[in-house]
Order: sequence, then structure tokens, then C-alpha cells
Amino acid sequence: MAFVSVKQLLAAVEEQGLPLWEVILNEDVKDRGVVREDSFRQMNALWAAMKSASEGYSAAARSKSGLVGGDGEKMRRYALTGNGIAGAYLSGVIAEALRMGESNACMKRIVAAPTAGSCGVLPAVLIPFARANKTGDREITSALFVAAGFGQIIASRASISGAEGGCQAEIGSASAMAAAALVCLKNGTPEMSACACSMALMNLLGLVCDPVAGLVEIPCVKRNVIGAVNAISCADMALAGIGSAIPPDEVIDSMRSVGDMMPACLRETGTGGLAATPTGAAAAKKIHGIL
Ligand code: SF4
Repeated sequence: MAFVSVKQLLAAVEEQGLPLWEVILNEDVKDRGVVREDSFRQMNALWAAMKSASEGYSAAARSKSGLVGGDGEKMRRYALTGNGIAGAYLSGVIAEALRMGESNACMKRIVAAPTAGSCGVLPAVLIPFARANKTGDREITSALFVAAGFGQIIASRASISGAEGGCQAEIGSASAMAAAALVCLKNGTPEMSACACSMALMNLLGLVCDPVAGLVEIPCVKRNVIGAVNAISCADMALAGIGSAIPPDEVIDSMRSVGDMMPACLRETGTGGLAATPTGAAAAKKIHGIL
């Protein structure tokens, strides 16, 4: 998937007269020298792995540090009461994001999409969506191509690594990918997917990477929730016809430059932000003393 800009991707869609996801699939076929069926099968396998990771969540599991675990189940139970402020779909999304983030912290199998730290965002929006709308695997797999296409552009123009660009590069990118995928699932135009991607990234610009004790647990698990909820709101804004004031490629470039300006203490070293609070620092001391 070798598109270097969203502008180039949208031009290819126009030129080929194909759906956005298919243009991205075709590029993957060309880029990796695989046959079309294999490309689709591999993406479908990632979707199957996301669902299986969700099913494999254990409410009793706790991370080795003891910092996270069990919140996904608390949220799921709360959502079932119907008393949540967010409503059924959004409550399900929050629960799913927590479950996946906790599974990652508990060393269970997850799909790094685009990274392990941000593994909860895409499944959090897609699994409840598929459940609520009875969406088939083919449609979700097609939407995953859209997510991958935008993710690849972000990775090539900026970064998807917290160590390089801060959490905006991980949760921000995942959120942007999920927003674009949701627009695809709702039959929005390619331009709407691009706008949703752009707005989602814009909203999380400047988010720092400050994991307590250097572990992908706090604030990582809960940041998957904001990535997922942000994706939904941006997808809906785009589908409503709301545009991105700054073009997507410029937003991505800006994320790169913000990441470049971030000090090392806010880029996954676990020495700044929440990691440097008295509570974060005390947790790190305790964990590293006992692990
Ligand atoms: S805070 Fe850092 S380690 Fe945690 S999810 Fe964000 S980028 Fe990843």
C-alpha cells in the first residue's frame, strides 16, 4: 500500500472509478506482489483475530504489575443495565476498548492495529457496529482496507510510534483509521473518509506518550476509549457533511512536526506526564522493585 498522500489516494479513486477499499486493496496487491484473494484473505484473518481476541478476554486477568484488569468487565456489566449516559452502542464501544487494552496488558493475543498500545480502537468500533447492524465479514474486511490505507499514509508521512511521535501517533492514528473505516461502513464517500480521518487526528494532536512505569497500561488502556469515541464522533461529523478545515495531508504533516518537537520525556520513556506524577513515580518504584 504505497500511497504517500491522501490527495494521491483520492486521485487514484477518481481515476480508477472503484470503491476506496478496492483501490487500497489493488495497491496492496501491486506493492506486495500478492494475488487479490490472498490480500483479502489476510485482511479477513485480521478481523477474525480481532473477534477472537475479544472473545478471549478474561474478566479475572490482571496485568503482571497489577495496575490494570477487570475494568472492561465492569463496563460491560454497567452497559447491560441500560442506565449508561452513552447509550447501548457507545457503552459497548467503551467496554470493548477497555477489554482489548487490558488483554494487551495481560499479554494476550491482540491485533496491533496499528500498534499494540492502540489495539483497542479499531475492534472497539467495529465489533459493536457489526453486532448492532448485522454487518458481514466481507464488509468489515473492506472497511479494514480503508483503515489500513489511511494508516499506511500516516506511517509514511509521520509516524505510528509513541516513542517517535507521542501518543498522538498511536491512539491518534488508530482513531483516524477507525473514523475512516466507519465512514466506509456507512457508505460515505472517499472524501468523507478522508475528512473523518483528518478530524480524528486533529482532535488528538499533541497527545503525549507517558506510560506509568514504562508499561503499556496507564494511561494506555483508557486512551483506547477516547480514540474509539473520537473516531465515532468524527465519522458522524463527516457523514453529516462537515469538512476538515485543514486538509488531511497537512494535518498528518503537522502531527509529524508536533512529534518532532516533543521532548524525550513525553515519548514512551515513562519519565514525563502521568508517569512523572507522585503516584505514577511511586507505582514505578514499587513495580520495578518487585518485578
Ligand atoms: S501512552 Fe504511549 S505507550 Fe501508551 S498507548 Fe499511548 S503511545 Fe502507546
